[in-house]
Amino acid sequence: MLLEAIARHARETPERMAYQNRAQTLTYGELWHSACALAFRLRAGAGPVLVCGEKEAGMPVCFLACLMAGRPWLPVDPQQPVERLLKIRRQAGSADVLCCGSHPAVAALKAVQAEPLFGGHELLEPERFAKERERDAYWMFTSGSTGAPKGVRIPLSALESFVEWMLSLPAVAACGAGVNVNQARFSFDLSVADLWPTFAAGGTVRALEPEEQGDLPALYKALGRSGARRLVCTPSFARLCLCDAAFCRDLLPDLETVFFCGETLAPRTVKTLEKRFPGLRILNAYGPTEATCAVSAAEVQGREGTLPVGWVDGAASRLIIMNEQGEPQPDGEPGEIVICGHSVGSGYIGGETGGFGSFDGEKAYRTGDEGVIRDGLLWHLGRRDRQIKYKGYRIEPGEVEAAILAWDEARAAAVLPLRAGCEVRGLVAAVEWGKEPLAPEECSARLRRVLPEYMLPRRWCAVERMPVNERGKCDYAALERMMEHE
Ligand code: AMP
Repeated sequence: MLLEAIARHARETPERMAYQNRAQTLTYGELWHSACALAFRLRAGAGPVLVCGEKEAGMPVCFLACLMAGRPWLPVDPQQPVERLLKIRRQAGSADVLCCGSHPAVAALKAVQAEPLFGGHELLEPERFAKERERDAYWMFTSGSTGAPKGVRIPLSALESFVEWMLSLPAVAACGAGVNVNQARFSFDLSVADLWPTFAAGGTVRALEPEEQGDLPALYKALGRSGARRLVCTPSFARLCLCDAAFCRDLLPDLETVFFCGETLAPRTVKTLEKRFPGLRILNAYGPTEATCAVSAAEVQGREGTLPVGWVDGAASRLIIMNEQGEPQPDGEPGEIVICGHSVGSGYIGGETGGFGSFDGEKAYRTGDEGVIRDGLLWHLGRRDRQIKYKGYRIEPGEVEAAILAWDEARAAAVLPLRAGCEVRGLVAAVEWGKEPLAPEECSARLRRVLPEYMLPRRWCAVERMPVNERGKCDYAALERMMEHE
């Protein structure tokens, strides 16, 4: 259904713009033709294809070519430290690494430039496209609590059902074929909500490059020229945009819908958006990478107080609240949010089970999120574990702690969120040093070699003895109290 829809746009409206960044454009005809040429080459190999790049126009070509060739794509961000990228490549066992643009990581990854492979006379003909719908469409790596990033496998059937669900949301369908602004990096699963529903509907993706996102005047200029009707982003990104009054209707006269996902949406953000963009439809969507980007959504404009994260009827998959014993709970009773059905991925690379399992004969994923269903709506009440969302990024403190504990000088380490009210403003690392504490600059420099920038603690505290609970494990609550008094 997805390939067929994109093929139709390429056939019927080949000149229509499919993808744009600051300097490059890609029509549906170009997207299709280039992907067919690359797919012909990719068919000679097997297994996942690591695709390294930022917002280059070659990126969606590579993803589409993988889909045609029946090989999962695995997007990686060249801004991540080379060591982490190599770890991901090793875990994925990817033999083929394609890259778009020139990035320092390319040489270390032994990546092949994708663009020269977009030409040629040999094209993979549609009748030879991979047909099996339970095969993996893409792999996506996220932070892992055991110390290494973990890779999620998403089958084509889940991707297609996500696209169908997203386009069934009235606020998305209303602007389906228009311009959709993409903020999320392609290594982050929110970007799935940009590319595929837009391509399926024959719309245009305007991808915001990292340089544009890091500079407010450049960002407003890009947004102002985009003609955007839909914006898909994290609440953190919206807060950044809203910090200047210039982010208003005058800048984006055609903006109809904002699709939020990935972290808690504050009522204040909604209020300000409503004031600046009269008539805007604001969706609060919810879901983890393991269940294909998002599974529920609700329009929240005009709502007061805490915001729901979606309607249960009309969700992409069945949503159940379960107690500790794995029993479904009645409405109004809090418990763990469990997702059952088509949206659930095929598992983790390497076979770790994590929250994957089955329920009532269907695939199921225990999210680790605490929630409640009330009045037909799902409400997110927080995490049951230590996972942190910072600027929309998912961080397992365990991954940062493992990187610190790899140093001979560190005896014990604990990483906690730095909060201002409900908002996470960064991380703080508490370390029990064996000898003299290392200087914070030295700690940051070491971590920068193995972790992405957003995982680096902003504060470092030396503790004489890590507080432990009766089971001999770190007592995070006691540590938090200790640090409050610092
Ligand atoms: P990720 O896999 O990076 O998309 O992160 C998934 C996690 O983000 C979920 O398990 C939730 O903890 C959190 N999350 C996603 N959407 C929302 C939302 N609308 N409100 C609150 N938390 C959310």
